[in-house]
Formats: sequence, C-alpha cells, structure tokens
Amino acid sequence: MTTRDPGSVDKVTAGDAKAPGRSPDFIREIVAHDVGEAVAEAEKGGGGYAVRTRFPPEPNGYLHIGHAKSICLNFGIAKEFGGRCNLRFDDTNPSKEEQEYVDSIMEDIRWLGWDWGEHRYFASDYFGQLYDWAVHLIREGKAYVCDLTSDEVRQYRGTLTEPGKASPYRDRSVEENLDLFARMKGGEFPDGSRTLRAKIDMAHPNISMRDPVLYRILRATHHRTGDDWCIYPMYDYAHGQSDAIEGITHSICTLEFEAHRPLYEWFIENLPVPARPRQYEFARLNLTYTVLSKRKLLELVSKGYVSGWDDPRMPTLAGFRRRGYTPESIRALCDKVGVAKTNSVVDLALLEECLRDDLNKRALRRMAVLRPLKVVLENYPEGQVEEFDLNNNPEDPSAGTRKVPFSKVLYVEREDFMEDPPKKFFRLTPGREVRLRGAYLVTCTGVVKDASGEVAELRCTVDLSTKGGTAPDGRSPKATLHWVSAAHAVDAELRLYDRLFRAENPDKYPEGQDYKVNLNPESLVTLTGCKLEPSLAGAKPGDRFQFERQGYFCCDRDSKDGATVFNRTVTLKDSWARMQARSR
Ligand code: ATP
Ligand code: MG
Repeated sequence: MTTRDPGSVDKVTAGDAKAPGRSPDFIREIVAHDVGEAVAEAEKGGGGYAVRTRFPPEPNGYLHIGHAKSICLNFGIAKEFGGRCNLRFDDTNPSKEEQEYVDSIMEDIRWLGWDWGEHRYFASDYFGQLYDWAVHLIREGKAYVCDLTSDEVRQYRGTLTEPGKASPYRDRSVEENLDLFARMKGGEFPDGSRTLRAKIDMAHPNISMRDPVLYRILRATHHRTGDDWCIYPMYDYAHGQSDAIEGITHSICTLEFEAHRPLYEWFIENLPVPARPRQYEFARLNLTYTVLSKRKLLELVSKGYVSGWDDPRMPTLAGFRRRGYTPESIRALCDKVGVAKTNSVVDLALLEECLRDDLNKRALRRMAVLRPLKVVLENYPEGQVEEFDLNNNPEDPSAGTRKVPFSKVLYVEREDFMEDPPKKFFRLTPGREVRLRGAYLVTCTGVVKDASGEVAELRCTVDLSTKGGTAPDGRSPKATLHWVSAAHAVDAELRLYDRLFRAENPDKYPEGQDYKVNLNPESLVTLTGCKLEPSLAGAKPGDRFQFERQGYFCCDRDSKDGATVFNRTVTLKDSWARMQARSR
C-alpha cells in the first residue's frame, strides 16, 4: 500500500471536540494582543486600528468544507474584533479560472452566513500596481529576467540538502532587465520562454527564497482583464502585496504556506507597500471518507463520477446545501474542531452529529414509505377518511400539528413485515398487533402473495376503540410503524446518499491505482414509487424534513410538478458506526 498522508496526522473525534465557549485559539490570542497594543497606542495619541482579514479563494473550483473553516475563521475574527473581512479573488492563473466559480463562491459564502459588504476585490485589480512594483525591484537590482526553461529552473533550484546554482542570467544589468521585462509585457516572447525572478539567495536553506519566479509569460484570456496581459504574477508575489494594498492586518492561511512566510516578508520589506501585513498559518481541515483537493474534485465532476459540483455527495458547500445540510451545522463543525497548528483529520461522523443536532431541533416530522407494502384494513369502512392531528416536531411544541388522512388502504414499509420473523422482531407478522403512528392499533390477519410467491399485500384488522393509537385497556404494542394512506399518497423519487468514498482515507490506495479506486459504488441508491403523506405535496426545493424512522430528507431541485424528488441528507443514527462495531 502507498500512503500519501501529508506529515503526521492526529485524529479529532467527537470526544476530543472542544465545547462552545472554549478558550480562544492561538490566532485569536494574537489578534487580541495586537488589538490591545493598538488601543494602548491610540490612548497615547497613536492612529486608529482596525482588524482586517481576508478570505482569498482562487476561482478555479467550488468552495468545499475546508474553505468553510477558513471563511469562519477570517470572517469570525473580523466580526468578533469589530474589524472587517475582505473577499479577495486570487485570480492570477487565467488558464484555470472562470466566472462561474466567482459566482458560486459568493453564493456559498452568503449561504454560510457571512457578508463582505462592499469589500470584494480581485488580485487582477492590482496587476498594474504589481507590475510597477516588479519594475521597482528590477531598478533596485533585486529582480532579473531569466531565460531558463521551467525544467531548468527546477534543476538549478537544488534540494533540501544541496544549495541551488545561479542562473546564467542572474547578473544581467538593470537596463537589460528593464528592457526585457517591458518586452515580456509587450508580447514579444513566446509563452514560457522567460520569467522574472527575485534575486535573493540561491544557497538559502529555504527553497522558496532561491530566486523565486515573480512573473511568467502566458497567453490566456483572463475572466476579468481579457487579453490585456500576457504576463501574470505568481501567487507568492501577488498575495502579500494584495494584502498590503488592502491594509490587511492578519493574513491567515494554511500550514503549507509556513515555508513561504520568509518570502512574504521579503517582498513587504523590499517594496514601497502602504502597509505591513503579517502572515499566520493554521492547520487545514481534513475529513475522513472525503477528498478536498480541488484538482480531485474537478476530476470527479469533469469525468462524470458525480453529477456536478453540487452533486449531494460532493464535499462542496453547494453539494452539502443540495443534500440538505444547514449552514449552522457546518459552522458548528468549524467551531468544534477549533484552530490548531498541527494537521489533523476530523471524523465525518462529527459533522453528521452537528447536522443531526441542528435538524432534530428544526426539521418537521413527516411520514414517508420508502419501499411500500400495501395493507388493507378489512373491517374499516370503504370510502371513509379520517384525519389525525400529528405533531410536527415533538422537540418543539410551537411547531404545531398537521392533519394526516387515514383510510382503508394504506402503505407501510416492506421491511416492517416478516412472515417468519426472528425472535426480536416486534413489527408486523401474522397474528401480531402493532401501532400505526397516531392512528390505530392493527393486527395482521393474512398475507396475499403474487404468482412468484412474493408478499404483495397484507390483510389487517383495526381495533376501532384505539383511535389516536392508545388502547382503552392500556395495552401497548412494542412497535409503532409509519404509514401513508394509499388514496392520498404523493408519489416520489427518493435518493439515498451515502459516503462518496468507502475508505476512511481515500488517498491510501494500492500501488498503481489512484484515489478513485476508493469510490463507494453504493453512494447513491435511487428509489422510485415511494409514498409520501399528502402534506409533502407542496414541498419546495431546499425544504427539509425528518421522515420518521428513515432519516432527514431535503426536497431536490429536480422536483417538478407531479414528480417530487427528495435527497436523504443523513440517516437518523450513524449506521457506519454500527457497521464498524459489528465488524469488530
Ligand atoms: P487546492 O485544493 O488546490 O490546494 P485551495 O483549496 O488552497 O486549493 P484556495 O482557493 O487557494 O484553494 O483557498 C482559499 C483559502 O482557503 C486559502 O486561504 C486556503 O488556505 C483556505 N483553505 C483551502 N483548503 C482548506 C482546508 N482544507 N482547510 C482550511 N482552509 C483551507
Ligand atoms: Mg490554494
């Protein structure tokens, strides 16, 4: 087996999660300290100070739940300290970026509950300034045009144990560099033929300081600047300077940028920037049974392993939303996992718990039969319809009740009947009495089979003295089943979603394979001909319910008049934990 875990990884489970009201994380401590100092300064007559953070997505894919952690941290800190958080699109790579992603990113941040107000920016807005600052570095003898190919640049760079080698173009004169850089911008040279590099130190122990590339030549139409530019700044150069332009105080990013921090600081020190932001790194969010790399998510979409970026199995915010997750549950997860300095993998079950906690409080209860089995109540009057008032949510009396029609022919769940049940099966079986939720006690008296011997229909008698589901003599069956009146049922398609990957770590796979070998072939089971209680007829895409005994479901946008579709958001209990316990 090849393991591709990045570094050492601790697992955070529900038990380790910190309670709300936990002590501030290390980044909040830093911010609080800086705010404290600034207030003291201000009292001595210094200038004002406001915390400014930013969330800097690259518009090359949809946001995923890892981004949610960064969003909650950046917007959360701004809110808690009375500052502001900019939304800045890091759009320096036109070959992979698109307007569709810009739009989806804004929609998803708003859905999560955050707002950047007027402060939406694009790194591409600063291309002119970044170019001028590159010219400044050339003038100072701190940048040069290099003609090495990208492969050669890599070879010359050295390794962790060996110093790099100077490029033969390193000692070009300032004049020659100014001329070549202007001509790079002017479109005189082919793509990839030259770069602008910072002149720092080819023997530096930190490889990012070995004359990093600042600009490359690339003819690609940019989603905002069109064909204005054929040279584009590299992320490391663009990012910190964009922070400085916007007056960011705390530039918070994930741990993989820790090694780039000296370079971040080098630019700030060597350029006439208007502010001196500082970079802080925290551990990215990883989830079991999930991949969060945009490259992989894009592959799943573009090769059709899923139906799109918002496929309900995708760990994107659009996917979670369509699946029926609430923004509150995702924020609760981000709160629980906290902000740390070491990488860890969070148990997907913890997210599901956050979701159940939230939905249990708010989702209205409904009855839906997934795999219908017809029941005829032999002694119930033909043509009679009664309406029962059922609680919308036992957890919340203010949610009120709804009317559910009851009649002679009903559907119950096929798995709630067994002809020859094992000992602990308390549901329907010939001769056994059960409760139909909120309606009556009924007893199974007969089974009708089809030509192949399959159970096609049940015959039952109803005890009409048990109206509402309670017997006057106090007897109480062990099982209460959900049911739907056949004549009133709404037909629906139910999509039962499960984890997209069956391996806890999808990035662990046999030699010669890749992460896709871990895809769960049963991640989607589609059921048609499901029977819903009639109050669900008016459900709108996005409406969430608890289908009693079956799980939480969300009306899908594929629903059309007469063709209702629901996604199963999550089961009522953690069935994976049970499965694993059984296999132990
Ligand atoms: P890739 O998947 O290619 O590494 P990315 O997820 O880093 O891309 P960006 O758009 O650059 O994509 O990310 C925007 C911000 O979100 C960055 O500040 C990044 O550090 C943060 N971020 C990305 N992934 C995670 C994660 N799993 N946990 C926490 N923050 C994340
Ligand atoms: Mg990134």
